[in-house]
Parts: sequence; C-alpha cells; structure tokens
Amino acid sequence: MHTEVFDVIIIGGGPAGLSIASELSSGCRVLVLEKGIAGTTDRFWFVPPEVLDETTRKFSYGGVTRFLTRTYSMNGDDLAWRAKLYDSYPYIKDRELLTHWVGVIRANGSQVRDNCTYLDHETDDSGVTVTSSLGTFRGRLLIDASGHSSTIIKKYAVDQSDFYWWSVYGAVGEHPNGIGDMQVGDYMMWQTFKDADPGSLADGKPVFEYEILDEKSSYSLILYLTREKIDQETMKAEYERIITSQDSTKEFHNLKVSSIRYGWYPSGALSQQIAEDRVAFAGDSGCWTTPCGWGMTFILNNYRHFSARILHCLAENTLDREGLLSASLYRTHDKYEIMMNVIATHFLANATTEELDRFIKLFRIIDPILCEKVFTLKLSQSELAEMLPVVLEEFTLTELCRIVPAVGFKNLLLEAGYCLEDLLFDSIRDLFGFGPAQETDDGFDFDAVADCPNG
Ligand SMILES: Cc1cc2nc3c(=O)[nH]c(=O)nc-3n(C[C@H](O)[C@H](O)[C@H](O)COP(=O)(O)OP(=O)(O)OC[C@H]3O[C@@H](n4cnc5c(N)ncnc54)[C@H](O)[C@@H]3O)c2cc1C
Repeated sequence: MHTEVFDVIIIGGGPAGLSIASELSSGCRVLVLEKGIAGTTDRFWFVPPEVLDETTRKFSYGGVTRFLTRTYSMNGDDLAWRAKLYDSYPYIKDRELLTHWVGVIRANGSQVRDNCTYLDHETDDSGVTVTSSLGTFRGRLLIDASGHSSTIIKKYAVDQSDFYWWSVYGAVGEHPNGIGDMQVGDYMMWQTFKDADPGSLADGKPVFEYEILDEKSSYSLILYLTREKIDQETMKAEYERIITSQDSTKEFHNLKVSSIRYGWYPSGALSQQIAEDRVAFAGDSGCWTTPCGWGMTFILNNYRHFSARILHCLAENTLDREGLLSASLYRTHDKYEIMMNVIATHFLANATTEELDRFIKLFRIIDPILCEKVFTLKLSQSELAEMLPVVLEEFTLTELCRIVPAVGFKNLLLEAGYCLEDLLFDSIRDLFGFGPAQETDDGFDFDAVADCPNG
C-alpha cells in the first residue's frame, strides 16, 4: 500500500494544531489529522489583547471587564473591584479563526484530514510512521496537539504527577427577567459562595464565574481545580443546583439555557517541558496554560515562536529529544511566571475557601490589580517583592507549606534561586547606576539552569 510522506504530521485540528500547521505550512509539507471536523466548533475564548496579532485581531469581538465580588467570608461586605490591567478582554470566535487557519494550510499545499483518528505511531532513525483510521502516513516529525486527553502522552507515560485539572461546566443562556444590577461586559472572576459551606476547590467545591454578553444573555460556568478531572454528569448536577438555588446567583435562577459549554484543561505544570525523539507536544497536551486555564492565550502567545523553532530543527535535522526540547521553551512575560504558575495553582487548588478569601481581602491593602496579575501571570519581580511581606504577615509558614506542598519543588527552588540572584544583581546595578538589565522574551530554559555549574 502507498504511504504518503510529509515533513510534519500534526495530531489534532484544535487551536494548537491548526495555528502551528498554518505557520509550518509556509516552509514545509504538513498533514493535520483531526478525528472530527477541523475548525467547526462553536466556542469563544477571552484573551488578553496583547496576544492578538494582525491575524487573530480580525477575529476578536466585544470584550469583558474582569472584576471580583461576593466571596465567602465577606458577609454582606462585598469586595468588588474592577481590574484595571486591561480596559477589556476581547473574545475570539474559534469557528472563524480556526477556519481561517485551515484555509491557509490548504492554500500552502499542505493537508487537513477530517474524520481521521490517530491510532498509533512508531519512530525510527529517519522518521515516524503514523497509523490512523484512514491509513498510514510517514513524516520526519510528529507534533501532538490532541488536547487534554492525549493518548500520545499516555503512550510515553509522561509524568503528570504535578498536574492539576480544571474541570468546567457552564452555559450560554438568556435572562427572561433581565440582568439585574449586572452590566454588559462584566466578567465576574470567581465567586466562592458566601451562602454555601466553606470548602475548597480540592474538596470538590467549584467556583462560579459569569460573563455578561448583552442586556439579555450571559455565559455562566462553574470551575473545579482538582487532582482528578470531575466528570460531566457531576458538574451538570452541581451547576444546575448552583444557578437555581443560591441567593448569590439570583439573577440566574430563571436562565433559559441556549448552549452548554464544558471541558477540561491542565494547570500548574508549565515547568514540565516535554519532548521525545521525533515527537514534540503543543497546546493542552503539552500543558501550555496559566493557573486560570488560559490555554488559548498561551497558544496565541507561543505558536509563531514555537513554529519558527520547529522549522529551525527541521532545517538543522535536530529532531531528537534534546533538539526538540529547545524548541519547546515557552515565551513568558517574565521568567518568574513559571514559579508563579506553580504557586498560584497550588494555592487555588489546596487553600480552603476561607483562606482564599483571606488572600483576596489582602487586596484592600495591596493594589487589587496585583490579584488579577497573580492569576494571569503578569506579576513583575518588584510587585512580587511588594506583595510578599503582606502575604507573610497574614499567613503562617505552616499554613503556606500545607497550601503549597513540596510537589515540583526542584523547579521552584531553582527558580527561587534564580529570582534571588536577579534581585542581587539589580541592587548592584542600582548601586553603581548601571540602569535596568535588558529584558528578553526568549522563554526560560530550566535544563540550562540545572546544567549550569552554579545551578
Ligand atoms: C469551557 C472552556 C472554556 C475555556 N475558555 C478559555 C478562555 O476564555 N481563554 C483561554 O485562553 N482558554 C480557554 N479555554 C482553554 C482552551 O480552550 C484550551 O486550552 C485550548 O482549546 C487547547 O487547544 P488544543 O488545540 O491544545 O486542544 P483542543 O482544543 O482540545 O484540540 C484538540 C483537537 O485534537 C483532536 N483529537 C483528539 N484526539 C485525537 C485523535 N486521537 N486523533 C485525531 N484528532 C484528535 C480533538 O478532536 C480536537 O479537535 C477554555 C476551555 C474550556 C473547556
């Protein structure tokens, strides 16, 4: 039987697979295998405006303003603040953006195969052979972009012991009685139910979020951050209970659901760079997310950078694990983002609702925008230094050690050491009037730090 040959075979026609394929297809021959129909889902994502480029900007609509309100311990004393980080977060409709990428891939002479399920693959010295429901394909490189339940991750038994999972269930719907005091464009960041028993995300108590889309409709959802994914049926029952029976969700009691949105995505293992000989990982399968689960945001932030590095590996024929690991560096705002990602995920998952609310109350002392920055990974080193004394005054070390356990500790320590070193260098630069050090956006290479003699 004839086996078709490509440079790169990508598994998954979601945001990661299609964005990367559209970039790679300008320099090599790509095949995307999608088990459903690539680019036809009906979802939208909220993203920070800074990740939009000349392509994606065309597919962004409206916007929401994030704010925080109604937390468990406020007892009628609601802490409501509006995030000033951005005027609004635009949302992009994937049906249009993903379809655009499919068009680019095909126009460049590459292929997207729908209804084609990846089954297995074997690598050898010169390439990789992929078996699918539509036959066998041969490529020089395989990119796994098959999402949160990747079978390729399972095939390689990639260690996911550091992982936490966001499980999400919600609905877009209409409010026959209007939206009450809420305003169009509101995005309520999370509500930990002052009229519910205290608990924690880890105890299986979800947080509630909503976005007001127009005078009549909203997108409301519950989110769990736990070690194991929560199944759809459990989430559905809890979502229905919360939006019909809680005082704090009274505007949603008569919601007329028009479409259900649910899914799962990983959080808190950004420091885990994964690659195998002739196999790279991208998107949810590579855990490209922030603690808030902004997987689409990370994809938009990284797909061009990642694709350029992959093209380089193809040109140099450095397609072994080592070569591909260097292509898998994340572009981060600041290298401390990785440490913040791990800490923030542990905090969100392991703190009790009361502890979470004690943390939120600190933002009466500290500028509330820093709360937004913690969870979207925008906190700078000096802001971190501003927050630390206030946090250490509120929480005992015993509490902090319980909330942020010793999982992933090696990377945390490496980065903490790196952070202290930078602080020391900054003080010396200040002392001698050298001015600030040059910022880079090249991502952060843990292996390079680990291998360095002083690491
Ligand atoms: C309800 C919800 C709301 C979200 N909101 C936001 C948001 O507002 N902002 C944000 O930044 N992020 C958001 N995210 C996260 C974001 O959607 C994900 O991180 C992103 O979709 C990951 O893209 P991906 O391409 O890696 O994986 P996926 O989107 O999961 O795509 C994987 C693709 O691979 C295909 N596939 C799987 N297995 C196979 C196989 N064996 N063979 C062939 N094809 C296969 C699947 O059909 C799918 O098309 C949200 C997620 C959910 C669930």
